[in-house]
Amino acid sequence: MSTSAVILLSGGMDSTTCLAWARAQGMTCHTLAFDYGQRHRSELAAAAAISTALGAASHRVISIDPHQFAGSALTDANIAIPHAPGNGIPVTYVPARNTIFLAMALGYAEVLAAQSIVIGVNAIDYSGYPDCRPAFIAAFRQLAALATRAGVEGQPIAILAPLQDLSKAEIVALGEKLGVDFARTVSCYQADEQGRACGQCDACRLRHQGFIDAGRPDVTRYD
Ligand code: ZN
Repeated sequence: MSTSAVILLSGGMDSTTCLAWARAQGMTCHTLAFDYGQRHRSELAAAAAISTALGAASHRVISIDPHQFAGSALTDANIAIPHAPGNGIPVTYVPARNTIFLAMALGYAEVLAAQSIVIGVNAIDYSGYPDCRPAFIAAFRQLAALATRAGVEGQPIAILAPLQDLSKAEIVALGEKLGVDFARTVSCYQADEQGRACGQCDACRLRHQGFIDAGRPDVTRYD
């Protein structure tokens, strides 16, 4: 039986690999991106292009008032994007972002009668972001079962995090195996309008190291 899924697609390497993974599982994929006033606007264009290229059935962008996420370096141009890892939760943390994104995806999945939601959280993210931790995903799984008609009627929407235990290098390897063209993906926190990466922020650094550790050429487009 063919199943369908809502894929949270930011246009970066992790969510793109998730979409390719879900397609490889035979899922009908409905991709979902969020316009929340992020500085790296070009990721939205990347997400739309990737959705089409990887054969998603539909692509939708939900706009969220940027004030919801005030105070993050990703939404406030007055807060500098750090060029070196610091201690604690990074300033690029966006307040409760994954809770809000997953809540939107949950409603959308129930409307579509989709069986699953796929999110690209992984071992690298959850060292710094509370809403990327396995415990958070497990808690949201419980919430999804309790909060929806689908759940109450015995068909809870599954929250799938296929990259959860993978390093960046393992994500590079998995994506390449699935035919992902990483040159199309935008991970940089301050990518330019053409989606070219700065090469200096945390996202760029982790991504570059992922290619090195995987023994693969870094195909990222840098400015
Ligand atoms: Zn960057």
